[in-house]
Amino acid sequence: MFERAKRVEPAGVSYRIRYLEPYPFFVKESKGAQLIDLDGNVFTDYWCTHMAMILGHGHPTVLEAIKTQAENGWHSGLSHELEVKHAEAITKHVPSAEMVRYASSGTEAMLFAVRLARTFTKRSKVAKFEGNWHGAYDPLQIALKPPFDVPASGGLTEGSQQDTIVLPYNDLNGFLDQVKHEKLACVILEPVLTAAGMISAEEEFLKGLRDFCDETGALLIFDEVVIGFRLGLGGAQAYFGVKPDLTVLGKIIGGGLPIGAVCGRLDVMSHFDHTKYFGLDYAHHGGTFSGNALTLAAGLATIDVLEHSPVYEYIDRLGKQTREGLNSMFRGAGFPAQVTGLGSLFAIHTTDKGPLKDARSYVLCDHKQSRGIFTFLLDNGILILTPEMLHGCISYSHAESDITHLISTIERYVKMSGGNGR
Ligand code: PMP
Repeated sequence: MFERAKRVEPAGVSYRIRYLEPYPFFVKESKGAQLIDLDGNVFTDYWCTHMAMILGHGHPTVLEAIKTQAENGWHSGLSHELEVKHAEAITKHVPSAEMVRYASSGTEAMLFAVRLARTFTKRSKVAKFEGNWHGAYDPLQIALKPPFDVPASGGLTEGSQQDTIVLPYNDLNGFLDQVKHEKLACVILEPVLTAAGMISAEEEFLKGLRDFCDETGALLIFDEVVIGFRLGLGGAQAYFGVKPDLTVLGKIIGGGLPIGAVCGRLDVMSHFDHTKYFGLDYAHHGGTFSGNALTLAAGLATIDVLEHSPVYEYIDRLGKQTREGLNSMFRGAGFPAQVTGLGSLFAIHTTDKGPLKDARSYVLCDHKQSRGIFTFLLDNGILILTPEMLHGCISYSHAESDITHLISTIERYVKMSGGNGR
């Protein structure tokens, strides 16, 4: 299948991070916490649809909602009841969300959030932080991993990135030093660095950014595409008690189908309203598949389960077991690695140096060792995210025995490599 794929898709994949050495496996079925490939191999899945599938694959409530909606028509491209109900659920739970607009991906929602912030403030400059991944929108696809000055892709013109200021994460003084004379449209960040290693923003850092924005009129935008509805129903802003002006959501709120959303302050969101604002005061948003009914049915069913079942209690407990179990195993074996994360999220850094407070910690890791762990896990039927930065998430479908198996498999790797990873 890979040979066929290579003939019709560059690198034989539809997204570079899905390329696995020596070749990617092709998923035939995904059920609960498991993936089954074309050869019948079974994997325990900590990839979880790029961290979207918080309930696990094929959850019966979500499946039922998708089936019902499919029978009634999956997307008319017109207004429907589910978008109102879904937006009501978001505004109920997410502290900053007074209104919502939908997009089809996190990338797309980031684009609309930046456009909205620029429209509202009548300013151009955007502040983003080292190591924060916000999707593939040109002004934000910059400084993703060290060395931060290497372009992340071809085709990113100077013009598209000249209004982006890149800043150090978790370093309030460093941030203030660089932006004190700037008139920013917005300050964008992930309140928890996710793909860059599950490292939380410090509370003082978040509060400092909030104060800066209040003093200067810049909008604070939280990218909660991964952590929205992951760290509880209110996401990172409820967890840390810092309210942004705008929030970008994705992944979980679509129940595993394509989605992005911009939500936030009423006076800001109103600039999407073409009946109120015109010309340069109006921010255009829209798209054929925005607010598509099938996604919103799956998303609403997912939120319903999150509201009524002890999901967070369960997955957070397994998350804690994963982090504590691995950390104590690494310490006991004298293996130079440590685990970060919170809630149901974890990342394994192959270094014992620290503290790890930003994406610069990437350079401390032993990447050969990271790839070794990734491949060993895969060979033993466990999939986590990326060989470059080991991380994963836990779903409501994972069993306690999955976590024990994950830890014991990594322990076997550690023993095999002589305890010190050499
Ligand atoms: N922001 C964050 C924090 C993400 O992790 C991602 C995707 N991994 C995005 C934005 C972009 O979302 P999408 O892939 O749906 O475009």
